[in-house]
Parts: sequence; structure tokens; C-alpha cells
Amino acid sequence: MCGPASSLFWRSREPPSLYPPDVRGPGRPRGRRRSRVRNVDGHGAAASAGALRRSAEAHAAGRRQRCQGRRDRCRYLRHGGRPRTVGRPVPGAGLRGAGPGGGRNRTYRGGDVVTETGSTQRVRWDRDPDLYFNAGPSRLPHHHEAILGYCRDLGVPLQVMVNDNRHAFLHDADALGGRPERARRMINDTRGAVAELAARAVGPGLDRRLSEEDLALVRDFVRAYGELDENYRYRGSSRAGYAEPPGGPTPGRILEPLDLVDIAKGGLLPLAMLFGEIYEMQAPIMEPIGGMDAIAHAFYRRTRRFITLNAQVTRLRRLGCGARVTWRDRTTQRVRTWDADHVIVTVP
Ligand SMILES: Cc1cc2nc3c(=O)[nH]c(=O)nc-3n(C[C@H](O)[C@H](O)[C@H](O)COP(=O)(O)OP(=O)(O)OC[C@H]3O[C@@H](n4cnc5c(N)ncnc54)[C@H](O)[C@@H]3O)c2cc1C
Repeated sequence: MCGPASSLFWRSREPPSLYPPDVRGPGRPRGRRRSRVRNVDGHGAAASAGALRRSAEAHAAGRRQRCQGRRDRCRYLRHGGRPRTVGRPVPGAGLRGAGPGGGRNRTYRGGDVVTETGSTQRVRWDRDPDLYFNAGPSRLPHHHEAILGYCRDLGVPLQVMVNDNRHAFLHDADALGGRPERARRMINDTRGAVAELAARAVGPGLDRRLSEEDLALVRDFVRAYGELDENYRYRGSSRAGYAEPPGGPTPGRILEPLDLVDIAKGGLLPLAMLFGEIYEMQAPIMEPIGGMDAIAHAFYRRTRRFITLNAQVTRLRRLGCGARVTWRDRTTQRVRTWDADHVIVTVP
């Protein structure tokens, strides 16, 4: 869901546009070019950040490759000697507009009917603003600055999403006799056991580039890293959790450390334990309050005058220096064509 580096609506006095000002083209009179987002879904559509990013990239690439003289000649011939400016269609923009019907950005709520190929299901839980399921994208990672910028500009309120839950159970049938364990215990006992092995290896002969002083530093670091005792042994840690929690006069009793070999039997566990370390998954992760489709609704509110719903693109053809889009109105079944200088294709 990355978008272009600059946001559409940051210039508040600009009229709503599908394109950042820098991709409109220098000196082009505002209002002469009208772009439309066309979407095949029955319920709604809006320009997606992905579509917008690709629009910016496609436009820049097109501009680089363009032979202006040839282009003008083409336009001149095509329109009977009258140069004409036509629109820039964007077939298949995702981030749907209203209702659970389009794009990969889907939020389901009580009472929604979900139709996939060959099956229809009704969402049976209560209809309540706080009860929803983001069945497609659910995370806005910290580095998706463009979509975060759109949320700010479009007034979509965000909240922190808990993406890495150390209280969750991790389970692999091959590990720990098939017993699920809390993520905090697995992660910290693994770190402790690995640190103990590392501490044993840190000594003369490990690496000739390291002086004795360096090795001592590394050993101290590894000890703190794994919470090892003074003999560089891992004997469990409060990081992994308690068998008896502390409180009042009770000091608490930490859990016995899990055995590294038992953990290592679970081939799925390294990924599960490192999930929160993946770049896209690192905290903080944000989400729109009330469901991911809040972004699509906000885009739709701002850009609806450019959008044609129920428009199924059936053919794209080069036409001289431009392109022809053939599309079918799924309501009336009428087939239409649209000639354009550029077509920005965002169908998956
Ligand atoms: C389960 C899941 C989880 C995900 N989680 C995340 C996440 O947490 N964070 C994240 O950033 N990204 C996530 N993604 C990826 C993210 O959803 C997509 O990158 C993003 O939605 C793509 O948007 P889009 O507009 O490019 O495509 P889409 O959302 O797929 O929209 C394409 C649109 O084109 C329409 N279309 C298709 N054919 C035609 C045609 N012939 N004519 C007209 N219209 C047509 C489709 O109906 C659709 O509405 C996830 C995706 C999935 C499936």
C-alpha cells in the first residue's frame, strides 16, 4: 500500500486531484484534463495508494520516453488536424469505496455477505462499530509514509495496532512435545540459550582480529543480552515469564528455561519468533480506527467525481502515440471506448 512520496492533498488550496501536482504536467491548464478511476466492483471504488504510486511512476517513465514531435503529429492526425487533450483513465483502482465488494482492501462487519468464487457467507457477529475484521490489509507499517500521509490529509484517524503479541501462544507440533508456549518464553529462552553458547565460544582463537579486551567486551555484552549468570550460564529470566508472579511480599518464581533442542525441533518457530523483527512488521504499526476501509471511504469522498463504478475494462490497445480503453458498463451492458494519451493500469 505504498504511495508516491508526496501526498495528494497536502496543498490544501489545490482542488482534489487523483495526481500530485508534479505529475499533472507543467503549465497544463487545470480542469482541461479529467481523469477517471474505473472499477469493476459493484459497490464502490477509489484511487488506491498503489494506483497512485504506479500512476506517478508510469507518468514519469512515459515522459522520459516521449518523443514530443511525433506525439504532437499523432495527436494532430488523430483528431482531424485539431490537437486535442483527452483524459487519463486509471482502470481498476483498488481501495474500494463503499461496501464489502472490491479490491483487496476489505473490512467485514456483522451482517455483511461475503461472496467469493463458489461460496457465499454471512458475517454472523453483532453489528457494532468496534466489531470488524480486516480480511485484506490490516497493517500500516511505520515506513509506509505515503499512505500515512494520505490518512493525515484525508482525516482518517489511526490507532496503534498490536502486531507482535508476546503473550500469544506459539505452536509447532514438532516442538516441545507439541505443547504451545507463550511467545515471551520461547523468544527469551531461545535468546538465553543461544547467548550461553555464544559466551562459551568467545575466547582466544575465536577471531584473530579481536584483542583480549575486545573479547571481554563481547562476553559482557553477550551476558547482558541473554541475561546469563556470573558463570555465563542461562538459568531462566523474568523476561520469559513467571511460574508464580511477583507481587506484594511474594518475590515471584521465574519459569524453568525451555530446552533449546526441544524448541529447535519446530521448523516453523524461528519465523514465528522473529515475526516482529521483519521490517514491515516492526512496531509501531498503525491501523485506521473502525476498519481499514476507512481509507477507501475517505479517498472516495474526495475523488468520487472522477470515478465511474461498474466499469469493466475489457480491452487496452495502443493507438498511435496514445491508447484506447474499451470498457463495459456492467449495469447497462453498454460497451464504450475512451482514447487517451496515457492509461495507468492498476488492475492486479
Ligand atoms: C490477505 C491480504 C493481507 C494484506 N495485508 C497487507 C497489510 O497488512 N499491509 C499492506 O500494506 N498491504 C497488505 N496487503 C497488500 C495490499 O492489500 C495490496 O497491496 C493493495 O490492496 C493493492 O491495491 P491495488 O489498488 O493495487 O489492487 P487491488 O486492491 O487488488 O484493486 C484492484 C482493483 O481492480 C479491479 N479490477 C480488476 N480487473 C478489472 C478490470 N478488467 N476492469 C476494471 N477493474 C478491474 C478489481 O476489482 C479491484 O477493485 C495484503 C493483501 C492481502 C490479500
